[in-house]
Amino acid sequence: MKTDMDRKLRDFLGARTAKSFAEVLGLETVGELLRHYPRRYLKKGELTPFDELEVGDQATVNGRVKKVTVRSLDTKAEIPIADVQKWARRKTLTKVVVTDGSRDLELAFFNQPWLAAKLQPGTAALFWGEVTMFRDIMQLKSPGTEILDTDDLSEAEIERRARPFRPLYPATAKLPTATIERSIKIVLDSLDENLDDPIPELILRKERLLGLREALQKVHLPDTEKDIRDAQQRFRFEEALVMQTILAQRRAVTDALNAVPRPRSEGGMLDEFDQRLPFKLTEGQAEVGEEIFADLARPHPMHRLLQGEVGSGKTVVALRAMLSVVDAGGQAVLLAPTEVLATQHHKTLTKMLGDLAEEGMLGGAERATRVGLLTGSLGAAARRTAMLDAASGAAGIVVGTHALLEDKVQFADLGLVVVDEQHRFGVEQRAALSQKSGDNTPHVLVMTATPIPRTVAMTVFGDLAVSTLTELPAGRSPIQSSVVPAKQKPDWLQRAWARIREEVGKGHQAYVVCPRIGDEVKNAADEEGEFVAGEEEEKGTKKQARPPISVLQVSEALAEILHDLRVEILHGRLPAEEKDSVMSRFAAGEVDVLIATTVIEVGVDVPNASTMVIMDADRFGISQLHQLRGRVGRGRVPGLCLLVTDLWPGSKSYGRLDAVASTTDGFELSRIDLETRREGDVLGVAQSGKRSSLKLLSVLRDEEIIFTARHVANSIVSVDAELAEYPTLRSFVRSALESETTEYLEKT
Ligand code: ADP
Ligand code: MG
Repeated sequence: MKTDMDRKLRDFLGARTAKSFAEVLGLETVGELLRHYPRRYLKKGELTPFDELEVGDQATVNGRVKKVTVRSLDTKAEIPIADVQKWARRKTLTKVVVTDGSRDLELAFFNQPWLAAKLQPGTAALFWGEVTMFRDIMQLKSPGTEILDTDDLSEAEIERRARPFRPLYPATAKLPTATIERSIKIVLDSLDENLDDPIPELILRKERLLGLREALQKVHLPDTEKDIRDAQQRFRFEEALVMQTILAQRRAVTDALNAVPRPRSEGGMLDEFDQRLPFKLTEGQAEVGEEIFADLARPHPMHRLLQGEVGSGKTVVALRAMLSVVDAGGQAVLLAPTEVLATQHHKTLTKMLGDLAEEGMLGGAERATRVGLLTGSLGAAARRTAMLDAASGAAGIVVGTHALLEDKVQFADLGLVVVDEQHRFGVEQRAALSQKSGDNTPHVLVMTATPIPRTVAMTVFGDLAVSTLTELPAGRSPIQSSVVPAKQKPDWLQRAWARIREEVGKGHQAYVVCPRIGDEVKNAADEEGEFVAGEEEEKGTKKQARPPISVLQVSEALAEILHDLRVEILHGRLPAEEKDSVMSRFAAGEVDVLIATTVIEVGVDVPNASTMVIMDADRFGISQLHQLRGRVGRGRVPGLCLLVTDLWPGSKSYGRLDAVASTTDGFELSRIDLETRREGDVLGVAQSGKRSSLKLLSVLRDEEIIFTARHVANSIVSVDAELAEYPTLRSFVRSALESETTEYLEKT
């Protein structure tokens, strides 16, 4: 079905303009251009408050010129304004200071001296370009310029500028916001009154939403603030509806999937295990257990997310679920994000199970199974045994990393997949694993210590049921955290090392965590480093910023300071046996200080470790810091976490560290973390360059819209899954499926 919206821009605009839209913004059709919404609006006569600008932003500002100077770049001599034309072909720097009424912003133009004559003090103009930092001063470098109070205008231009709001579009120097504005007006004026609307008429009325034609007019050429709000509301709903329709369709497909029911049985390994537990389950652990057992008993696959603070005891919950499945004759796998963690999980499970994990061995319990381990670095023989045990069913439980997902690994009867720390685990891999159990889909339990807001869970995971462990097991010690500004207070850093020495003196152990390994030749980033942080890292200064401090650097620097302590290093590029050996010696208390990368981030459980020093803490994300910190304070010993940074107090990134130091509430931190991210990152979408189908909708802010849209989508899909009666919605769904956000959804 071809509509007006599918018509090519070149039918409306000049060939050159149409070409730049395609090349610069990837917009080719009328529909695409009209859904290129303004980023914000400039009220007539209003100047842009400069304190809202952020380094790295593509900003358009409205300011009034305060001062202009032109200098020769060769002699540094100032050039009189009267002479600027003569300098047109020479190297010059024109500096313009503009004001918003209270703050100043500097503009730097290279080799455009004539601008100085136009931008005389008092002139109001629009400037657009990237906000950068130069010697601690915020700047726009060679921004695009449009003088506002000039007399020399066409009639259309006068009309445009008389409008109460100027839309400011995501723009570039090649395609400035004024050109976009003009083009949109041309296209809008040529459109029919009646446009095919993806939102059904009935819903428009019921939800009091603007129709498409009116909404387009108001979003691009608003007369009032209310116009803007109403129009945005409508388009947010539209985005939510399309997305929820996709999810509703997928749910319909999943609901039709089959799984082998694995009802809980009495007198099996689970009961035996419960009787032997050295502690009492928390109320949450018991409740979530029941929820899971109920899910497992159904003939459709469980799809449940278990979220809970670091240390809340998710492993026991998972193990009980696995045992229940083994009791019912199936197998369970536990997938971990790293080898270190898989190995550790394997040890923990084996230890917790005791003789229940010694099937066929002398001294094994009457009902027992085997816990296999499958990681990438296993020797050939061990690997063969593990694979045989998985294929024969001798191993009721298999723990592993990605290696488990290789096609060769077979299971006798895979009933349950547990994925630990989902946020470090690719969705494709999970999909691959689901295909390992033939016609029946295994039940899936995903565990995460990073709480996910309900709307995000709904959006990203479709219909994932969510269970939450809110309490920590009794007897946990508090963690005290502080930020150490190493540049400003060098003696505090010295004090940190002294603290480690004191803790070791008391018989405890410590971690020093670094963002980088340090053995890379050229490449500054490394696999484990994952600098989640730095959303607001100053682009302008990035080039000069030193690379993050590394394990090797720190171990060298500490060699002397901690010379009498037993210090070891741990990172992902050590050979597997060495990693293993370091980890077991640390766990056994034979190592005092472990200098490591984020390999220790998840799951490592050494209750005797009391102190953690995180170097270049600003290079990590909030949730990651919280996760890391969870490695200390696991036993009876109070934990101490020091966040070391070169940043100075007062900057935004320093503020994030302060937030981490001031609360140990993971849910609160997760919220702060998500709020500072871009929407795509919230959804876990890589910046693939493809356009996202979410432009105005925020999965964090627009909860209510998403809930309503979900309800509407469900009712549509339940009677018309193919959307036969909703051709416009159907074509929106189709094109959203081709965009990046849903590319992700599809694989979940
Ligand atoms: P998580 O994976 O959620 O971070 P773990 O499952 O590793 O947490 O549990 C952390 C520690 O708490 C482990 O040493 C575990 O044995 C212990 N633990 C779990 N549940 C309880 C409980 N109900 N009472 C006391 N200790 C518990
Ligand atoms: Mg864990």
